[in-house]
Amino acid sequence: MAVSDRDVTVIGAGIVGVCCALYLQREGFKVRLIDRGGPGEGASFGNAGNLGIASCVPLGLPGVLKKVPRMLFDADAPLKLQLGHFPRALPWLLRFLAASRPASVEAIADARHSLLSRLHEGYDPLIADAGAQDLINPSGLIMTWESEEAFAGAAYGLDLRRRRGIHFETLDGNEARQIEPSLSPAVARAVYIPRLAHVMDPLSLTQALARDFQKRGGAVVRAAVSGFETGPDGPRKVVTDQGSLDASRIVIAAGVWSRPLAAQLGTDVPLEAERGYHVMFPEQETKLRVAVMSADRYIAVTHMNEGIRAAGIAEFAAPDAPPNMAIAKTVRRHAQALIPRLKGEPKSEWMGPRPSHPDSKPVIGRSPRFPNVWFAFGHDHIGLALAGITGKLIGELVAGKPPSVDLSPFRPDRF
Ligand SMILES: Cc1cc2nc3c(=O)[nH]c(=O)nc-3n(C[C@H](O)[C@H](O)[C@H](O)COP(=O)(O)OP(=O)(O)OC[C@H]3O[C@@H](n4cnc5c(N)ncnc54)[C@H](O)[C@@H]3O)c2cc1C
Repeated sequence: MAVSDRDVTVIGAGIVGVCCALYLQREGFKVRLIDRGGPGEGASFGNAGNLGIASCVPLGLPGVLKKVPRMLFDADAPLKLQLGHFPRALPWLLRFLAASRPASVEAIADARHSLLSRLHEGYDPLIADAGAQDLINPSGLIMTWESEEAFAGAAYGLDLRRRRGIHFETLDGNEARQIEPSLSPAVARAVYIPRLAHVMDPLSLTQALARDFQKRGGAVVRAAVSGFETGPDGPRKVVTDQGSLDASRIVIAAGVWSRPLAAQLGTDVPLEAERGYHVMFPEQETKLRVAVMSADRYIAVTHMNEGIRAAGIAEFAAPDAPPNMAIAKTVRRHAQALIPRLKGEPKSEWMGPRPSHPDSKPVIGRSPRFPNVWFAFGHDHIGLALAGITGKLIGELVAGKPPSVDLSPFRPDRF
């Protein structure tokens, strides 16, 4: 099949790839979206649903090194590392420590905020056109702490947010329980972020956007990409288990699995899986009024269409290694301690790999090697939030327009 200069192939139909595909269509391209599974069935399936406008704070903060022993040996710890994976993760961890110095943290928070502050500009038109507004709940989010000491330890991160203009209200435990009566009496301090919305079913959102993409003439191809046929100017065919497909322009948006694909095209990125777990509690009589995030338990608890989802943990392991469902039990234990009325067995448990770079920033930009390839991956804990604006930026880049956000902090060759 002959392809024209106006054809784009997007690899990966997670929330990021689907948003890229929609914006590329809006730029007038004919777009093909390839995924080995259905849209939204990777990391985008089971996240906590938060459109976290306040998430400019990176994972690595000054003092993170002191947490490493607990990370390795405490069953309740939020960070976990499979020991067999340690040699592969070590270079990533060293870069992560370097990125946790105060000067780096300020620059990373600026970069994350530059995208997060445009979250709704990126998403809202896509969600409106797909008729998916009823999946968005603008109830706000409450962050909780269970001791004054833990709250005092959060001052640095709160200050990072405040200095970037993020509005939040600081509460004591009783004020927090007035906003969310389900919270445990142990909650001593809280911060309420009123403008923060959440998605009532992340899988349904990706599927609704993918349907809209198809309705507008986009093609969704179910195939696993194994590589490329590359000429002197760049890849000209995408090789899949269903045969080779001609491709004039390619966007790689395959979440954590982007690393081997980018490497085949000559770009090495330190992308690792931070595997998270969720448990779904069945529909409860009383709904949560707001989304909840426990800053000291490192879990998010969100009311969704099908029940209450508790999500958390960052486990460093190979993305496709079997899940360790004992970790899901940890999430469950934390959720039931934070919200005591969450009783009984969860109805399902899940693990998915967050695609994470050590400097807590995605890669959004043109391949340093080939002019017909663009990258959009590595959105770590905020990929649901950033998918819309990432799609918009990729649309602009592929169309040859100046991007509406300074993309230098997200360059693929920064590592
Ligand atoms: C427990 C948990 C909670 C989270 N909570 C939040 C939250 O509240 N808010 C937020 O913003 N973010 C959250 N995240 C992060 C967010 O889910 C991810 O950043 C986001 O889903 C990444 O999207 P993606 O499209 O890049 O990757 P994915 O959703 O993983 O999509 C990649 C797609 O590429 C496909 N693919 C890969 N390789 C190939 C190949 N070779 N051939 C064909 N197809 C391929 C896969 O099948 C997959 O569908 C959370 C993550 C987890 C795990």
